Amino acid sequence: MLTQEEGHGRASGIRGRVAELCYSTGALHPLQRVRSWWQKDLRILAYHRVMLLPDPATYDFDLELISTTPERFRAQMLHLKRHFLPLRLRDVAAALDAGDSLPPDAVVVTFDDGYDDNYRIAYPILRELGIPATFFVSTGHIDTGKPFGYDWLVHMILLTTAPRLVLPELGMDVPMPRDRDLRRALAGTVLQNMKSIDAIAQEAMIKRLEHDWQLPSDNTESADCRPMTWTQLREMHAAGFEIGSHGVHHRMLAKLSRDRMKDEVRQSKATLERELDAPASLMSYPVGGDRAFDAEVMSAIREAGFQLAVCYICGTNPQPASNRYALNRLPVERMMGPGWFAAMLALPSLVSYPTVNREPAHEQAHA
Ligand SMILES: [Zn+2]
Repeated sequence: MLTQEEGHGRASGIRGRVAELCYSTGALHPLQRVRSWWQKDLRILAYHRVMLLPDPATYDFDLELISTTPERFRAQMLHLKRHFLPLRLRDVAAALDAGDSLPPDAVVVTFDDGYDDNYRIAYPILRELGIPATFFVSTGHIDTGKPFGYDWLVHMILLTTAPRLVLPELGMDVPMPRDRDLRRALAGTVLQNMKSIDAIAQEAMIKRLEHDWQLPSDNTESADCRPMTWTQLREMHAAGFEIGSHGVHHRMLAKLSRDRMKDEVRQSKATLERELDAPASLMSYPVGGDRAFDAEVMSAIREAGFQLAVCYICGTNPQPASNRYALNRLPVERMMGPGWFAAMLALPSLVSYPTVNREPAHEQAHA
């Protein structure tokens, strides 16, 4: 079942409608050409999950993590092949190191977290079409196979039989709604509010709910929340795809003590290098909004030997050399139809982003 919004997938607002009109009349690509005369910005797409849209009435995990469907993903990648120049992030780093400007229409495809649909669905399509991509994974979840904490939190709020949601850490004490959509909305509010507290306190809160509600994330067998394995990642890496760090435990790095933050950075890098037997030089900040990283985090990343880092702030990168440790991205979201996607890439400043003030509940309310 699709909501109306997901069904038509059109950009909203006046600017969105202008962009859709440009797409439907064929004016988009001539305008893209004109724009590229003076604006040579690097576009980096951000995906999480690629999967068939489930029925929200029976899907027990976070819908906001679904970036697009397999069919739309293939169409999006074909669009990139036709109208843009897909690059590897390490080629971007090499160009920045050499002081070279990037070619016009450069685009990079990235994925955050490390869900196993990245391997099952996205990777075969990318390989077939010859499009490079970077998969940023939280190494602790690859090690253990345990679901990502924020997704599990949404799962628990959808399923619990508890009559109230009591979260003193967030100053919340509310009755648990019966309606499933209201529960999803409540989970979104919790994810947003959590971003203001310490990353260790966030984890402790989720652990407490797992215990109190008897919904432990250990030993879950659900295919709906499974991370990739190292075997899968080694195969993707051997096929030429880049595997980068998304931390160890998907903690907001700026919400950790300085020592813990540095440990997360170093440990994720060491684990990637050990498991893939190759240098790890690319980072995506977990959650990725402006509260997820700061100047100290960026220095730690640079000192640890990372060459580039991406965040989850919406936008392109007109001068990527100036923000190579905080590269903006364009999130792809499940309600985007082909016109919206094409217009977002061709004329980025024209199209409004659904997450402009909100990382999806994981990478801003959400990643
Ligand atoms: Zn993430």
